[in-house]
Amino acid sequence: MTQPSTERIRNVALVGHNGAGKTTLAEALLARAGVVTRPGSVEDGTTVCDIEPEEVKRGMSLSLAVAPFDWLCEDDGETYKINLIDTPGYVDFGGDVDAALSVADLAVLVVSAVDGIEVGTESAWQKCVDAGLPRLVFINKEDKPRADFHRVLQQLRDTFGSGFVPLELPLGEEESFHGIADVLSQRGLEYEPDGRHHVTDLPNDVTDEEYRVHDEIVEEIVAGDDEQLERYLSGDVPTTAELERTLAQEVLAELEFPVLVGSAATGIGVDRLADFICEIGPSPADRPVTVAAGPEEVPVTADAGADPLAFVFRSLADQFVGQVSLFKVVSGTIKNDDRLVNTASGTEERLHGLFHLRGKEHLTTDRVVAGDIGAVAKLAATPTGSTLAPRHRPVKIAGAEPAAPSYGLALRPVTQADDDKLSAALHRLCAEDPALHVARHEETGQTVLSGAGDTHLAVALERLARKFGVHVETDPVRVPYRETINGSAEAEGKVKKQSGGHGQYAVVNLRVAPTERGSGVEFVDSIVGGAIPRNYLPAVQRGIEETVAAGGIHGFPVVDVRVECFDGKYHSVDSSDMAFRTAAGVGLKEALQKAGSVVLEPVSRVTVRVPSAAQGDVLGDLNARRGRVSGTDVLVGGRHEIQALVPAAEIQRYALDLRSMTGGRGTFESVHDHYDVLPAHLTEQVKREASASGARHH
Ligand code: GDP
Repeated sequence: MTQPSTERIRNVALVGHNGAGKTTLAEALLARAGVVTRPGSVEDGTTVCDIEPEEVKRGMSLSLAVAPFDWLCEDDGETYKINLIDTPGYVDFGGDVDAALSVADLAVLVVSAVDGIEVGTESAWQKCVDAGLPRLVFINKEDKPRADFHRVLQQLRDTFGSGFVPLELPLGEEESFHGIADVLSQRGLEYEPDGRHHVTDLPNDVTDEEYRVHDEIVEEIVAGDDEQLERYLSGDVPTTAELERTLAQEVLAELEFPVLVGSAATGIGVDRLADFICEIGPSPADRPVTVAAGPEEVPVTADAGADPLAFVFRSLADQFVGQVSLFKVVSGTIKNDDRLVNTASGTEERLHGLFHLRGKEHLTTDRVVAGDIGAVAKLAATPTGSTLAPRHRPVKIAGAEPAAPSYGLALRPVTQADDDKLSAALHRLCAEDPALHVARHEETGQTVLSGAGDTHLAVALERLARKFGVHVETDPVRVPYRETINGSAEAEGKVKKQSGGHGQYAVVNLRVAPTERGSGVEFVDSIVGGAIPRNYLPAVQRGIEETVAAGGIHGFPVVDVRVECFDGKYHSVDSSDMAFRTAAGVGLKEALQKAGSVVLEPVSRVTVRVPSAAQGDVLGDLNARRGRVSGTDVLVGGRHEIQALVPAAEIQRYALDLRSMTGGRGTFESVHDHYDVLPAHLTEQVKREASASGARHH
């Protein structure tokens, strides 16, 4: 690969619905660029971008993949370096799309000419809007039966609004798709079977339409440039090169979205996509990055001569070299063996053995310039999302916030050896993929892995087994129920044993009363006159704490109770710490029983965003889950936001259920809010489930 200048680098994320043809398109571009001799296929598992066994098995991309190639642009005769970033289309892997968008300077939204706009098209578009990323659209599969370019173009406008400028029209459609009308230059491009084209006159049947579209888009383009508009109105039509320059500015400003057409399968239009990426797509130098320098935010421009600064946007586990960190050089030039500091932790890292990653291939290099994407192995303390900078310049780059995980499973190691390795392996998995989250739930004793959905977790566990040799079974996540009391009561706990020699004797009188929710357990010693000698009171307190933790009447940890020890009895010979500890436990259980014990369940605050059409169904469903809706808001783009308080037990699988209720268009977040009394009629069921799942239940 040639060493590019920053201005000639194009970082391009391929985004869109699963199956629109992103991976095949990447393959077609690499083939056309001469990087691979024959395009591989998704079906055979022979593509550059889908390399992991989990991807080959499912025939879909599960993580982002980078594929750089050199491209000689037809229009200006210059060589560019295009860093393609293929992204997964399936909703569970949105975290990887975010990572790709955080370093891309242009998104190519791949849309199927047959299927048009799908759920994944909408979510990819929205992610690009949120990331402020310039974008163009490639209408793919134009060779397939039922392909309809014009219908999809109309759909784009209906769904996402104005600004779509078709720079190409198809010549022929479906099986007879054979070439492209280039709207700006008003030429016909006929394709050979090897994906190369030759220029022809426009066929008669498209000339009328071509002229009309040409005039429309010229007007659209010049309208964004005062000087060109004035010239145009006085009858002077700008040249194709001038129009392209103006369009490039409008693309950068996210005002215009060029629309191209082609087929990743036959190669038609693929070379023109690469040409337009070079001609109209922004270079990294056009898009300054905002970095935080202490409390201040400063823009940093991609300048190869400045201080080195890099952003680690993804780590991948490589079979041979271990962990590989993919980074974008935000400014400066990173040279082999440079020492930079991870500005979050202050740890210095040596960047030894720099390379560019293409699929799984390592292309060694001695430097990576501003704007380019590089890779390095074995950074010990630099997880995804880290900034690497010189020690004297500890700035931080704000990466995309990882989405909060919405679906969890508890992990149970199969063998002791699996158990020993589990925590380190999970740590590595989460460092690679920030959309995964692992937590030890103290109350239930479970290790819980959470992510975006069941496929995300299934793939993570397959990787855990394949890459780290750790095998686990999964269980549903247990709900951390607790219990408390309704009223106040008094009870006496007594231990009295006379079995030859030394006896055991202690009497503890306790009074229990409910306290405010969330206040825990309070122990009060109101012993007067030495009814229990002072040196036994720690044992009394310990007996109470043990019972509270081990579980009360229903077997769940006791909370929000004031336990007062107000009287007792002792024996000068037979009393002991042990006797007082036991007596306190017995007394507490009895007091709790008399006071009326109830189960508490955790309640989550849930925010659901759904298309307005689904709002009724979603509200009804929340109701059936014992949810209490506290408000609804109308959002832009025909969506509603619903806020509700819902028992945690009722939303364990909500990520999956909401997806099927809304065709994948609904999203939600939930955070723990408070504990509330479980309705009495559910108490027995909850206790049965808890003991069946082996919770710490006595
Ligand atoms: P991705 O999920 O967006 O990466 O889509 P893939 O690249 O995996 O493609 C999905 C399916 O569509 C595969 O079977 C491809 O062979 C097929 N495909 C992709 N592009 C085209 C195209 O332009 N024409 C036709 N006929 N099939 C295509």
